[in-house]
Amino acid sequence: MIFHQQFRQPKEQPFTVCERELVCELKMELRTMILGHFLVISLALNVGFLYRDYWKGNHHYQEFFSFKNECQNASVTLLEASPQPFSSSSKGFDGIIDLDHGDPTMYERYWQQMGDKTKVVINGWQFISYFSDVRKVCWFLEPELANSIIRLHKLVGNAITEERYIVVGTGSTQLFQALLYAVSPPNSSEPISVVSAAPFYSSYPLITDFLKSGLHKWAGDAYTFNKDEPYIELVTSPNNPDGFPRQAVVNRNQGILIHDFAYYWPQYIPISSPADHDIMLFTVSKSTGHAGTRIGWALVKDREIAKKMTEFIVLSTIGVSKDSQIRAAKILQVVSDSHQYKGNFKEGQAFFEHSYNNMARRWKQLRDAVNMSKLFSLPDFPSSLCTFSGRTFGSLAAFAWLKCEGEIDDCESFLRGHKILTRGGKHFGSSGKYVRISMLPRDEIFDQFTERLSTINFS
Ligand code: PMP
Repeated sequence: MIFHQQFRQPKEQPFTVCERELVCELKMELRTMILGHFLVISLALNVGFLYRDYWKGNHHYQEFFSFKNECQNASVTLLEASPQPFSSSSKGFDGIIDLDHGDPTMYERYWQQMGDKTKVVINGWQFISYFSDVRKVCWFLEPELANSIIRLHKLVGNAITEERYIVVGTGSTQLFQALLYAVSPPNSSEPISVVSAAPFYSSYPLITDFLKSGLHKWAGDAYTFNKDEPYIELVTSPNNPDGFPRQAVVNRNQGILIHDFAYYWPQYIPISSPADHDIMLFTVSKSTGHAGTRIGWALVKDREIAKKMTEFIVLSTIGVSKDSQIRAAKILQVVSDSHQYKGNFKEGQAFFEHSYNNMARRWKQLRDAVNMSKLFSLPDFPSSLCTFSGRTFGSLAAFAWLKCEGEIDDCESFLRGHKILTRGGKHFGSSGKYVRISMLPRDEIFDQFTERLSTINFS
C-alpha cells in the first residue's frame, strides 16, 4: 500500500532515525552558534547528508502530503544560498533538479514585481481574539477574507458563491479532513468508502486513512468501485496529476461528491462556467502561489455540513490564523484589482494574464524538449473557450504527467538516474511508466529541467 511504502524505511536506506535526528540537531546548533567555523562545518555536513540522501533516491519516505519534513526544509533553505549541487544558475547545470513537489515558487517573481501593493501591517494589538464574526456558522472566518473570496469568484466566474457557506481552513488539506469528518455517517457499522478516479492526487489515500478513525476508508480508483453502498467521491478538476478536466465517475445513489477545485483558475484551464456543486474546495496555494500562507476555503451548500466542518476545525486548531487570513485577503484583493483597476498596474501585470503567459510559455518549452528527446510523451488536451479571458486553449496544467515510452517501466527511477526528481505514477494509483512533474518551480529550475530533458536519449 502507498501509505506503507511512504513510511516504511527501505532496507538499503542509508540513514537511520538517529542519523536523521542528528541532522535536525545540527540545524538547532546552526541557529544558536555564533562562531563562524562551526557554522561552516555544520553546513558542509548538511550538504553532504542531503546530497547523499537525494542522490540515493530516498526522499519519498521523508515526505507527507507532498512536503519534506520541517527539519529538511530548514536544510533546503540553508542550501539555497550555497553553491553546487543545489545552485541554480547558468546553462549546463548538472546537479539535482527536484520537481517532485508542487511548490509554487514560479509566482515569487510576479509578487516581487507587485512590491508594496501586497504589504500587510499587523500591529501587536490586532487580531488577538479567537473570534471574527460570531453571527456566521464559520465564526473564525475574517469578513475581509470572505469578501475578497466572493469578489474574486465573481470576477473570474469559476464558482457560484450565492447561497453557500464559506468555511476557511489551514489550507484545503485541513478542509478536506474536515469534510471527511462532516460527511461520513457517524454511527455506521462500517467506514464509508472514499474513492477518486485514477490517477488521483497522491495525498488523498494518505489523508483518508491517516487517523484510522473508523469513519471512512480509502477504497481506491473510482472507476472500479462497484459496491452498492454509500461512498464519497473526490473529483479534482482539472486533475492533479494529469491536468484533465473531470466529472464524477461513479454516478450512483448514496454518493457524496467533494469537488476539489485547487486548479480551476484561468492560468491552468479554460473557465467553462461557474462551478455549482454542493461542496467545493479552493486554496491560495495554487491560485495565487501562496502555499506558505496555508489558507483554503470551502463553498458549502448545506448548513449542517458547514457546521460540522467548523466543529472539526475548532477541535483541531480552534480556528485558522487571522494573520494568514488577512494576508490572503490582501493578496486576493490585489489579484482582483490587477484586473479591475488596470490603470494602477503596469502593462501585462494583470495576475491571470501574467500567470497564463508563464504557463503557456512553460508548456511550449516542455513540449519542445519532449519532442527533441523522443523518449517521452505528454497528454494532449482538448481546447475550449475560456469565459474569463475570451481565449481558446487547452489545459496548461500545474503538473506534467509525463510518460516514459518504450522499455522504460520505472520512469521515476529512470529520471532519477538523470538527477531529475519526480513522483512516480504508482503514488497516484497508476502505472510506473508515468511520472508527475511540477510545472511551478522558479524559472531557472524549469529552464535547467527542459534543457536536460531534451538531451536524454537512448544510450
Ligand atoms: N488538492 C489538490 C488537488 C492539490 O494538488 C493540493 C496541493 N498539492 C491540495 C489540495 C492541498 O492544498 P493546500 O496547500 O491548500 O493544503
